[in-house]
Amino acid sequence: MKDEIKKGTNESKEERKMADKEKKVSNKPTKGEEKTGNVSRRRFLKSTGLVVGGAAAGIYIGNNSHALAHETPIKDGYAGTVLRVNLTTGKIIMEPTTNYEIGKYIGARGLNIKTLYDEVKAGTDALSPENKLILGVGPLVGTRAPSTSRMTITAMSPLCTYGESNIGGLFPIQLKFAGYDQVIISGRSKKPVYLSIVNDKAELKDAAHIWGKGAHEAQDAIIKTADAGTQVISIGPAGENLVRYACIKGTGKNTAGRTGLGAVMGSKNLKAIAARGTGSTELDKPKRFLEINKKLYKGIEAVSDHVNGICATQVPKNFMVDPSLAVIGNYEASSMEGWNNELLDKFDKDYIDKYVGCAKCPIRCYGRTNVPGLPKTIVACFPMGDFSSRLKSTNLVGMVENVTMCNHYGLDATSTGAVIALIYELYDKGILTKEDAEDIPLDRRDKDTVNILMRKIAYREGKIGKLFAEGSVRAAREIGKGAEYYVVHTRGLEPPLADTRIVKGKALSNAVVSRGESTRAFGPPEMSSFDKTPKGLEKHEKAKKQMKELYGTEKAAFHYEYDGKGALISRMDIVTTVYDCVGACKFASDAVLGVFGLDDLLQMLSLATDIDCSEQEVFVAGERTVNLERAFLAREGITRDDDDLGEKLFKEPVPSGPHKGDILERDKFEKMKSDFYNVRGWDVQTGVPGRKKLEELGLDYVADELETILGTSTAKG
Ligand code: SF4
Repeated sequence: MKDEIKKGTNESKEERKMADKEKKVSNKPTKGEEKTGNVSRRRFLKSTGLVVGGAAAGIYIGNNSHALAHETPIKDGYAGTVLRVNLTTGKIIMEPTTNYEIGKYIGARGLNIKTLYDEVKAGTDALSPENKLILGVGPLVGTRAPSTSRMTITAMSPLCTYGESNIGGLFPIQLKFAGYDQVIISGRSKKPVYLSIVNDKAELKDAAHIWGKGAHEAQDAIIKTADAGTQVISIGPAGENLVRYACIKGTGKNTAGRTGLGAVMGSKNLKAIAARGTGSTELDKPKRFLEINKKLYKGIEAVSDHVNGICATQVPKNFMVDPSLAVIGNYEASSMEGWNNELLDKFDKDYIDKYVGCAKCPIRCYGRTNVPGLPKTIVACFPMGDFSSRLKSTNLVGMVENVTMCNHYGLDATSTGAVIALIYELYDKGILTKEDAEDIPLDRRDKDTVNILMRKIAYREGKIGKLFAEGSVRAAREIGKGAEYYVVHTRGLEPPLADTRIVKGKALSNAVVSRGESTRAFGPPEMSSFDKTPKGLEKHEKAKKQMKELYGTEKAAFHYEYDGKGALISRMDIVTTVYDCVGACKFASDAVLGVFGLDDLLQMLSLATDIDCSEQEVFVAGERTVNLERAFLAREGITRDDDDLGEKLFKEPVPSGPHKGDILERDKFEKMKSDFYNVRGWDVQTGVPGRKKLEELGLDYVADELETILGTSTAKG
């Protein structure tokens, strides 16, 4: 009975309303109406009751303004407008998306890095007004395609140089329906504000009454006075206090968790962004589009037993195959008493009352908890591990309480779990002392200690709070006494969940991908080598053949092998980047769950847009995106040496359990990196994209700039 309840309740009321609305207006012309721009425009105006007019609506319109973009339905996948907000001057302008090289980058993550690279100068302080916070929604957002309600947020990161995080839920759809493909926020407001976007009316509003509130409390306060259907993203106290791993929370507990983008918002005195759009999408071939979607929805339904709730408890249980892959403490063990499938099953049975997901996503990968005495919340795989195995705790009810507080403060759960695990280990090793701990009971490692630590960090209180609000690397450098050795990170970002001493491709991807960890881009082929069930063995045989065909070696299909991983990870990273660019969820891709592949995505894209959707073209757009991201890093002085994970994983083998003795071997790891750079066309000595590759991608100006900044030798290739 309980399972039926879980499966039968995917979408919230608001999500269902949104889906119904799409069914009605998006993919089918209304009876009697032709699908011409004018008729559709009339329908849109009628539905909104808006009198559209930039200046009249209190908006400054730039020279290239085209207010009509907001009056017509979204055609060809793009809403048509980029919104620019300068918080220093209060000036808000709109520009046509066609001013931007949309075809070359597809949208969202691609278009965001193009803006970031071109407009944020090398050496910019991430917490200065000169940094830009960029929101991008891809062309499939707002259509009926499954798992396509994702938005990428990009900025210079205060934690790890390149900042990028992805968020789902209803906010991206509202932003698209309001008429925007991208929002670019610069400057710093003198006083706390929030940005309100209602169709083509964008304005800055006073946020004094919500400054200091928890992330979700702030959202509730805005929603109370806003139009029905408004969705909000916001920061909590951690973002306001510039904690370098503060996150951005969305309504429905969605999160742009990684790389400290909440601190970027805080540095701009921007508490929240609210979006409400009454637009719609219109497709040229709605029937064909619906047919494909139907097929995809059916396919996902067929694997629902496996994928529903996978981010709640099933990741450690099924997908990761083996709970001993989860990081325990600060990489101090590979198993602990009571950490097993039975524990996760019991938690699922007793406390997860519903599997939930982003709008239009039948995967419903999250679990909603119902724990007596606690507000209902959403748990996903990473926060679940971050506040249990990561802290050597099997108290999953305590984990729910910690996740709730983490959401309230607006901290990134993964960095927070890693930072607290580090604090514990440094204390155990005598590097942090009782005097350093001040009033924090570091000997008592329960949920309450975790809550105290989070509060101290979010408000930068006391010695520990101030130190660790800076992130683990900066804190360890400040502490000295050898503390840096214990930090596992790439360019300052703490990695999630899986112990990368065991899974070599995952180790490589964490080290080399743009933001410094690839939460969702690693290798099911290599993961298949864990599964010893008959079905698993069959999958593994297939993976071996596929790896041999694609990369010339079966070894890429084994988690403990280093060969073939350079090419495998390079491809997976580019494919998942394409998912980000179109607004689809990487979790659905072949790189993770495999519920729909690149070919399915391309079919949907070709029916929704004018883009040349040959696999080659789209792949090149993804390649262009990751190359520009890498060039952004190179311009900031990042080189091959920074593509690392910290010494600990190369010196200390997994101490116990089924993977006892696994370790990263430095020479083999470096060889994997070289393989990766070679496949990418990057300089093997420096990890900088080569001129030849950049020119191939039409990025000649980037090659020129890198040569000027870094010297000719670094950008050769
Ligand atoms: S797979 Fe999960 S994260 Fe991705 S769109 Fe679906 S519900 Fe959201």
